[in-house]
Parts: sequence; structure tokens; C-alpha cells
Amino acid sequence: MSASDRKNYRPETLLVHAGTLRSQFNEMSEALFLTQGYIYETAEACEARFAGKIPGYVYSRYSNPTMNMFEERMASLEGAEAARSTATGMAAVTVALMGLVKAGDHIVAAKALFGSCRWVIEDWLGRFGVASTLVDGKDIDAWKKAVRPNTKAFFMETPTNPTLEVYDIAAVAEIAHEAGAKLVVDNVFATPLYQSPLTLGADCVVYSATKHIDGQGRVLGGCILASEKFIMDHVHNVIRQTGPSLSPFNAWVLLKGLETLSVRVERQTASAGTVADRLAGHGKLVRLIYPGRKDHPQADIIARQMRSGSNLVSFEIKGGKEGAFRFLNGLKLIGITNNLGDAKSLITHPTTTTHQRLTPEQRAELGIGDGLVRLSVGLEHHDDIIADLLAALEKV
Ligand SMILES: *Cc1c(COP(=O)(O)O)cnc(C)c1O
Repeated sequence: MSASDRKNYRPETLLVHAGTLRSQFNEMSEALFLTQGYIYETAEACEARFAGKIPGYVYSRYSNPTMNMFEERMASLEGAEAARSTATGMAAVTVALMGLVKAGDHIVAAKALFGSCRWVIEDWLGRFGVASTLVDGKDIDAWKKAVRPNTKAFFMETPTNPTLEVYDIAAVAEIAHEAGAKLVVDNVFATPLYQSPLTLGADCVVYSATKHIDGQGRVLGGCILASEKFIMDHVHNVIRQTGPSLSPFNAWVLLKGLETLSVRVERQTASAGTVADRLAGHGKLVRLIYPGRKDHPQADIIARQMRSGSNLVSFEIKGGKEGAFRFLNGLKLIGITNNLGDAKSLITHPTTTTHQRLTPEQRAELGIGDGLVRLSVGLEHHDDIIADLLAALEKV
């Protein structure tokens, strides 16, 4: 598919065709190139390839046809000039941030972060002399006030895990750019189908491909997308020289996962909307949060920057941890685990899993009560999902 063809096709079409490379055998389905490296006809050709004087693959730590197909398909979907794949979503976040900073620099991030992202920013980057300020992502003034002369990167997830808060990407991008910093957005919850941070002004988008992109709980993977310049200035060499690389096998699984992404995510999102509407106002719930509902606190931002609400619904069960555990133990169909975006409906209790590391005060500040659960709606029939949820709520 040529670059001009890409512009004419819609996401569903790109997900099936973009980035496909064919070998001399003209295989129909994308091939899995399980090879660490490549053979050269002559020593001169090898020299030229290593020097970057002739195009071609060199070493699968940073270039492999299957990885390349995945990256190209992701880039076309995101509308990004360039993409690099990584072994996990956390490798994508870590590379994107480490590529932007050096000792003495400063990062501003929203404090509502996936647990490991928060650790990377506060603990890990701190060890290398990179300071950070965590702000309430909803508060535009707080982003502004956090800027220092040495601020080089802004980071946010939106919608956030697990409270599904939504932040104004365009407004934060403007503050970042005024400060001479780059904005990196973790777009996992919205998926590339429902939110395009680059078109809203973000400089870089990262994904955990482990979630909706695989969508069937098989492999881990990640992806970093940005302009060609951003990738070459901040990402390419970090991956090439340090090796947080995606395996060709996982790249192949993710590439084939992309073919069905829109079908899965659209169905899951429609079901999530139905589930949210059915549970909202239920007598055993304290509150329910779904970015596709009009009662979401940031409904105005959602209307501007998201095309749909995603497959995640969070709700707080009455009775704190005890109430939540009774509910979770009463579920028959929905699995208790921490993955999301899967074909199977899955549910998580953040206080005792993903956000266990935080103090009760830190959790309270983020709105993560002991009764809060995060549901990832799968591909089962929505009536079966709702029946399971209602029966378990009876146990509370
Ligand atoms: C899962 C997740 C990650 C980390 O991805 P892994 O593939 O598990 O390393 C980062 N950010 C968000 C929002 C996630 O949901």
C-alpha cells in the first residue's frame, strides 16, 4: 500500500492492509521472520548496509520485516510518520521518557498513572537525577505552575486507569510547547480508534499492545509513535543500543491482532455502553464512571477529543473492600485479573493489585476507594455480562 493510498483509506482498511511486505514467495498472509540477522552477498554490501549507505535490515534488535510490518500498520492507523515497536508497553513508556531527558532535567506528569509508569517517573528516573512533579491532570493551571526552566517532558494517560478521568490533550500540549517541552501521551485506554493525540498536539504516543491490540491475552508488546524527527532524535538509538525490542513472533501476533482490532473494540465498546447504562444508579453502587456517558465529569472534553468511550467501565461497590470482594467472588463469567482489552470480560480491584504500592492517602487523592473495581468488557453477549454482574451484586 503506497503512502498516497494510505491517506485515502479508512482505519478498518488500514488495519487489514497497511504495512504488508511480501517476500519472493508472494505469501498471502504476513510472514513471520524468525531471524536474528541477515546474510550479505559480499563484504562490500555488508559494509554499506552497516554504514546505512544502502537500505535493508541489519539486526533484529532494531530492524526485522515482521516488526516493520507491525510498526508501519500502527503508524498508518495513528497517522504518525514513524513508529518503533518494543517488548512491552512499559518499555515503550520508559524509552520515550528516557529519550527526552538527561540528568538535571524535569518531567511534569499527571498523578493518575498506571502503577509502573508512576514508578518509572518518580523512582527510576529520579535515580538518574531527573526530577518530577505530579499534578492533578484535570487542573490546567497546575500543569502551568509545575513548569520549571529545565522541564523537558510532559506525560499523561487519558482516560486514566482506573478512574477513567479524561484530560485535555490540546490544552496541555500548548503548555508543554510554551515551556519548550514535549508531550507524551499513553493512549492505551482510548485505543488508536477513539483518540488521536498527535492530531491534538501531542508529540509522541505510546501503547501497551498487550491490551486491545493483541486483545486475546497472548503476548506482551508496545509501540512508540511520533514524527520521523522525534523518533530519530529521541527513540531510535535508545532502542537500537539498549535493546528493549519486540520479538518477531510477538510482532506477528500483534500484526494479526490489528486486523480484527476495530471489529473487537467496536463491539466491546457498544457492550460497555450497554453495561454502564444498565448498572448506573444500581442500589449496590456508590458511583459509576464511563467516558461514553453524559454524566461523566469531563463530558465536554470527551466530546471534543474522543470518538467513543472505550470498553472500560469503573464502579465503586458499597461496603469498601469487603463489598468489592463479595462482588468479585460472586462473578462466574467475568475473570478476576489485571489485563484489559481482552476478548474475555475481565475485572480488577485496583486497591489490592495495580495500586497496592500507593498509600491509602495517595489512593484517596486519586479517587481510588477500596470498593472501586475496573471492568474491561469483552466479546461475550452483553446480556450474559450484565446477568453475571447483577447476580454478583446481589451477593454484596
Ligand atoms: C498495561 C499498561 C501499561 C504497561 O504495558 P505492559 O505491556 O504491561 O508493559 C502502560 N500503560 C497503561 C495505561 C496500561 O494499561
